[in-house]
Amino acid sequence: MDYYAAPIARLIEEFSKLPGIGRKTAQRLAFHVLNMRKDDAQNLSNAILEAIEKTRYCSECANITDIDPCFICRNTRREKSVICVVESPRDVVAMERTKEFSGVYHVLHGAISPMEGIGPEELRIRELLQRLQTNEVREVILATNPTIEGEATAMYLSKLIKPLGIKTTRLAHGIPVGGDLEYADEVTLSKALEGRREI
Ligand SMILES: [Zn+2]
Repeated sequence: MDYYAAPIARLIEEFSKLPGIGRKTAQRLAFHVLNMRKDDAQNLSNAILEAIEKTRYCSECANITDIDPCFICRNTRREKSVICVVESPRDVVAMERTKEFSGVYHVLHGAISPMEGIGPEELRIRELLQRLQTNEVREVILATNPTIEGEATAMYLSKLIKPLGIKTTRLAHGIPVGGDLEYADEVTLSKALEGRREI
């Protein structure tokens, strides 16, 4: 790091904290930024701050939104009786891209992972159960990722939800095991949704 002027070193340092950004890419981005016009750089930094300041979790589904309830929850044409449970807001985007799902979502913000010390209380499970008690819900689709953590989370949830007399389903296989929902293409995800099975 000694080869760089301090402000550049700091920029590289900040970029390397981003997911998927290695040292080399961080350096490339930093030098790209140095060549930016000042107003472009200002726009970039404003966009970052605004995204953080103007978004929050939807009070119904916990998806990230700039209006509360979010545009999905406030859409009267969505079926409130079908809730699709996903790990992250990115999974909501993946499901929406299929254009096959007309229900609403519940975002857990993670999956149960004893290895990483993430237990059920770290996730938005209490909120989900509250929703199930206060709303007329006939089906909960457990669309957590087909990873060990995602499967464990789905099993955990099905044990809690089934006694409430609500149909609990899991997306069909087809999404590569160990893969993330967000990386599945629309056709694969549509088929997984269509072929969902009761668990
Ligand atoms: Zn919402």
